[in-house]
Amino acid sequence: MNETFSFNPLTCPLFIPPTVHTHLFINNEFVPGTSGKTFETINPTNGKPIIAVQEATEADVDKAVAVATECFEKVWKKVAAAERGKLIFKLADLIERDAESLAILEALDNGKSYKIALEGDIVDSVGCYRYFAGWADKIHGKTIETTNDKLCYTRHEPVGVVGAIIPWNYPIMMSAWKLAPALACGNCIVLKTSEYTPLSALKFAELVKEAGFPPGVVNILSGYGSPTGAYLASHPGVSKLAFTGSTLTGRKILESSAKSNLKKIQLELGGKSANIVCADADLDEAVKWTTAGIFNNHGQSCNAGSRIYVHESLAHEFIERFKKEALAIKVGDPFHEETFQGPQISQVQFDKILGYIESGKKEGARVVTGGARWGTVGYFVQPTVFADCRDEMKIMQEEIFGPVVSIATFKTVEEAIERANGTSYGLAGGVFTKDLSTAIRVSNELKAGTVWVNCFDLFDQSTPFGGYKQSGFGKELGEYALHEYTQVKSVKIKIDP
Ligand code: NAD
Repeated sequence: MNETFSFNPLTCPLFIPPTVHTHLFINNEFVPGTSGKTFETINPTNGKPIIAVQEATEADVDKAVAVATECFEKVWKKVAAAERGKLIFKLADLIERDAESLAILEALDNGKSYKIALEGDIVDSVGCYRYFAGWADKIHGKTIETTNDKLCYTRHEPVGVVGAIIPWNYPIMMSAWKLAPALACGNCIVLKTSEYTPLSALKFAELVKEAGFPPGVVNILSGYGSPTGAYLASHPGVSKLAFTGSTLTGRKILESSAKSNLKKIQLELGGKSANIVCADADLDEAVKWTTAGIFNNHGQSCNAGSRIYVHESLAHEFIERFKKEALAIKVGDPFHEETFQGPQISQVQFDKILGYIESGKKEGARVVTGGARWGTVGYFVQPTVFADCRDEMKIMQEEIFGPVVSIATFKTVEEAIERANGTSYGLAGGVFTKDLSTAIRVSNELKAGTVWVNCFDLFDQSTPFGGYKQSGFGKELGEYALHEYTQVKSVKIKIDP
C-alpha cells in the first residue's frame, strides 16, 4: 500500500466529493463562531491538516442553548409526537441517501476504513434513527388506581434542552445514539463534537435542515473539551447532559452538574472488557470473535475485549491461532478496499498506546506479535498481542484504546470470573463455552453492563448498552434509552362526588 497517503477523496474522481462544512450549525444556519477562532482537523493517516473549522466558544454555547430553549418552548413541544417520528424517519432516509459522503468524511477525519464506515457506522446510525422514530408516538405514562375520588396518571415529558458531548471514535454513530432518542422524546439538542472529528456531524447538520426540523431543534458545535464542552456541561439552560468519553472527563461533568443546576447526567465511559475462553469452547469461534473484539475500530472502542482469560489447557493453541489472525489484519490506507485497520486518531493516542506497549514489555509480558508502530507515516500501530500477562500489569488494568490485547491463563471458571471483575471498569465482557449452565453462570456473575456469549461486539439498536462501576451509568439504545430523555410527571385529579 502507498505509505505516503497522498490520496485525497475530496478530489478523487472515483468519489463524489461531499460538501465540507466548517461553520457552526445554530438555528438551522451555518454560522461563524463568535470569537473568530478556528482549529485544524488533522488527517491521521499522514498527520497533515484537512481543513480549518470554526471553533465554538462560550458565547456560541449561550447562543445555541438560547435558540434551543426558545424552540423547545414555542415550537417543538407543540409538535405532535407522530410528526416528530416522521421527521426522524425522513432524517434516516437522508443519511442513507448520503451514506457515501458521510463515510468519506468519517474515514478522512477519523482514519477508519471507508468501507467499514459505510457498511457499519452509517448503517447502524440509520437503523438507530428508524428505531427511535418508531418510538416517538409510543411514549406514554400510566393511569394509576388509588382512591375512588381521584384520577392519577403519569406523563413522560421531554426534559427540554439536552446537551450531548461525543468522542471521536464513532462520530456519526455516537451522535445517533444520543440524538435519535432525544428527538423521539421531544427534546431540543446542543451537540458538541470532538475536536478531532468535527466534519461528518456538520454534513449531517445539512440533512437535519433538509429533513424539515424546525430551526433550533438540533444545534451542532465544533470545539474543544475545555472551554466549550465544560461550559455546555455546566450550563444552567441545559436540563440533561449525555456524555461518551473518558472516565476522567465523566467525573468533571458530574462535578459541574453538582455545582450548577443538578442537570440529569448520563455517562458512557471507558472499559477494560474481559473475554473468558473456557476449556470446552469452540476454538475457531472463540478466536474469530475475540480477535474482532479487540481489533475492530483499531481497538478504539469503549467495549473492546482488551483482556482475554483463556483456560490453560487451550492456551498454546489459542494464542497461536490468535497470532495468525492478528498477522493477517490488513493495516493501511482507510480508502483502500481491503483495509481493516487504519491509523489511531491522533499523535497523543499514538504515543499513549506505544507507551502502554513499552510498559507491557518492561513488566514482563511476552510479545506474541506486533509491539511497535506500523510504517513510518501517520499514527499507525501494529496489531499487538501480549501473552503471559499478570493481572497487576498496567496493560491488564488500564484502558489502552488501541490495537493491543493482553492474554492470561486460568485454571477454574470461578477464578476467571473473579479476575475478570478485578478492574475499576464494568462496561462489557464475554464468555466462550458450549455449556449452557456455565454461560449463564458467568453472564450472571460478570459485573458488566453487557455480556456476550459465544460472540462479541454485536450491537442492536433495540438492546440497551451502558456500564457498571466506573464505566458510567445510564443506558443508550433500546426502550431503556427513553427513560434517559424523559422526566415523569405525576398528575392527581380530585373527582367531585
Ligand atoms: P475525552 O473524554 O477527553 O473527550 C471526549 C469528549 O469530551 C470530547 O468531545 C471532548 O472535547 C470532551 N471534553 C473533554 N474535556 C471536557 C470537559 N472538561 N468538559 C466537557 N467535555 C469535555 O476523551 P478523548 O480525549 O477523546 O479520549 C481519551 C480517552 O477517553 C481514551 O483514551 C479512552 O480511554 C477514552 N474514550 C472512551 C470512549 C468511549 O466510547 N467510552 C470514547 C473516546 C475516548
